[in-house]
Amino acid sequence: MSGSGHKIKVVCRVRPFLKTETPDESVSVESDRVLRATNPRDSTKDTRFKQVSLGLQRFDACYGPTVGQDVIYKNDVRPLVETVFSGMSATVFCYGVTGAGKTHTIQGTEADPGIIPRALEQIFRHQARDAVDYDIRVSYFEIYKEAVFDLLKPREATAALPIREDASRRIFVAGLSEKKVASYEQFAGLYQRACGNRRTASTKLNNHSSRSHAILTVSVQWKDDISAGKMWRGKLHLIDLAGSEDNRRTENGRDRMAESSAINRSLFVLGQVVEALNTGATRIPYRDSKMTRILQDSLGGDSLGMMIVNVSPGEGFLQDTHNTLGFATRSREV
Ligand code: ADP
Ligand code: MG
Repeated sequence: MSGSGHKIKVVCRVRPFLKTETPDESVSVESDRVLRATNPRDSTKDTRFKQVSLGLQRFDACYGPTVGQDVIYKNDVRPLVETVFSGMSATVFCYGVTGAGKTHTIQGTEADPGIIPRALEQIFRHQARDAVDYDIRVSYFEIYKEAVFDLLKPREATAALPIREDASRRIFVAGLSEKKVASYEQFAGLYQRACGNRRTASTKLNNHSSRSHAILTVSVQWKDDISAGKMWRGKLHLIDLAGSEDNRRTENGRDRMAESSAINRSLFVLGQVVEALNTGATRIPYRDSKMTRILQDSLGGDSLGMMIVNVSPGEGFLQDTHNTLGFATRSREV
């Protein structure tokens, strides 16, 4: 049955060099689907690069540093968002190490908006030109050390939320707030405050936002006026994943280790789920992490999914890039 579902697309995005970085390019976009990893220096003498395999890597799409947010949105995200209005679920993940461009891609800035504002604009535009009365709701939560926190409530007011299963075996986060939004502006205000809840926490806990997964869910419900009263529901998940770096390499201490493995559990299992879906495996390990359990209904089956693999261009990131590409390879269908 799993083999009949849609595959999860894997696309790559290389960010530009920042003004503060030396432009020592270690990856280049070979074509609209192929990335080339190179090492500008002699890697044979440098032990740091012993493990790094260089060469070509194929994706469903590959975007270089000059490709704008609008292009990625138009090519890969817009069609996926549109399916919500046929009652389907769609999910977009950004995967990569801290600094690779995940937040820029999924959220963006006011001057250069990313996927979240564009998707919500698209949804409200669709609503405005359609006669159907859509009920649009959002929830926003983060998963930190395999615990779920509501981001639509002030951080101090929220305890970790449990995951439950209802009578029809649907998985849900118990007590998670879902806010009805009537316009883009209303959403934008809500989202801005919610991001603030995340940021407040980040000053208390070291680099919190890079260690937690942030999941924005938009659900669209409406009543079918033809088949008298049937409720339809489409869902969109837009996800800024925790940094995929291996924290054990840079930090020590027992808590850091525990944190690292807990963060990496959701990431690790997500990789396994994507791989299982894309290779048509019979067992999909949804139950093995909080994130994949919550997203179970939206991954596989008729749902559409896309993983954006964010990569930094520089040589300093080469080992991280290698690890990221290894993840991407395992995630792609064979
Ligand atoms: P991450 O969320 O993966 O840690 P960020 O999205 O914060 O990474 O990106 C790191 C830095 O690179 C930020 O300063 C961001 O503005 C910049 N950046 C990332 N991607 C792009 C891009 N495509 N174009 C311009 N700047 C980018
Ligand atoms: Mg980020």
